[in-house]
Amino acid sequence: MRSPEDELAELEAASLRRHLRAVDSPQLAHTQVAGQSLSNFASNDYLGLANHPHIKQAFIEATELWGTGSGASRLICGSLPPHRKLELYIATSKGTEAALVFANGYATSLGALSALLRKGDTVILDKLSHASLIDGARLSGATLRVFPHNDLNKLSKILEQTFSKKSTDARVLIVTESIFSMDGDHAPLADIIALKQKFGALLLVDEAHGLGILGPTGMGLAEQLDCAKGIDLQMGTLGKAAGVAGGYIAATKPLIDLLTNKARSFIYSTAPPPSQSHAALVALQLIRSPEGSKLRQKLWNNLQTFADATQTPLPASAIIPWHVGPSAQALELSQTLQNTSALLVPAVRYPTVPRNTARLRITLTAAHSTQDIQTLAAALLHHTA
Ligand code: PMP
Repeated sequence: MRSPEDELAELEAASLRRHLRAVDSPQLAHTQVAGQSLSNFASNDYLGLANHPHIKQAFIEATELWGTGSGASRLICGSLPPHRKLELYIATSKGTEAALVFANGYATSLGALSALLRKGDTVILDKLSHASLIDGARLSGATLRVFPHNDLNKLSKILEQTFSKKSTDARVLIVTESIFSMDGDHAPLADIIALKQKFGALLLVDEAHGLGILGPTGMGLAEQLDCAKGIDLQMGTLGKAAGVAGGYIAATKPLIDLLTNKARSFIYSTAPPPSQSHAALVALQLIRSPEGSKLRQKLWNNLQTFADATQTPLPASAIIPWHVGPSAQALELSQTLQNTSALLVPAVRYPTVPRNTARLRITLTAAHSTQDIQTLAAALLHHTA
């Protein structure tokens, strides 16, 4: 039997071993690591809401009113007002009949895909889809097909093959992210919707990295492109730009009813604390308010500053991949930036990204100052010249 030590040694040898870093301050634009203050370019708290006073206050107030725990799964104990209000607000903001909230985004993907699909169905995923979507697809027992990243021709061919031989009641679900988590680029949503309509497939779009960033009220890429109506299942997380935790699906009432009945990560899991749901509601309200627009503007100004300072194109989202290649080199660059310039910029490696495409995953937020961005840009240019 292989020992855990042997397995860890293999990871170490391939520069793929991970270590948890101890952080001694809140996740702000600057963070304390081993006594050193680092500029934090690792967080998905794109608008800086994880430490916003109103959202913190909302968390505290809901705890006072509703307690710390929800007691059981909602199918056992019922839905408290914070759960119900959050779902109503998500549905209204996304323009759907209903929504369902899970404890986190991972549980949402896993539960939704495994509930919607079964053996005989087909799920067609973009190659760069997040691990949670792949895991949900695998768990479902459906036939799993993958199309090369954003390759519409290949997607169309797979749809053609699938529809030519599928049984009449079999479901076909296309799955993509709106903003890809490790590359920061956009999916061609309007074209994907046209294809799904042509064939009569279903479409699930994960807006994990679009929420808060894009669209007139920050609802994501679908809102920006005005194509949300063409998406059957709008998914996302409340743990990134919303600064709290939780995951959601917004869809028609029958689809949400079906998920409530069949999504095992919803049914067999204690409901999120009422404070989490209430704080997420206040965060979403803030994202859609004039203050949210200002924070979005600040984020996009920061992205422009980075583009100017590095003489690169304006990034498509808050995620900027700085490509390196070999895992060992990406780790080394990340460490050098920390040691020489007090920058926290994580290296991402296989299996999070394909082999030999290791990179620094830089995330900018509305909380960074122009000086923070310029220091980062200068250090990157200096160490990768
Ligand atoms: N989908 C995508 C695209 C993600 O990047 C993530 C988080 N890494 C998730 C889903 C999971 O969300 P959560 O962190 O809320 O579990």
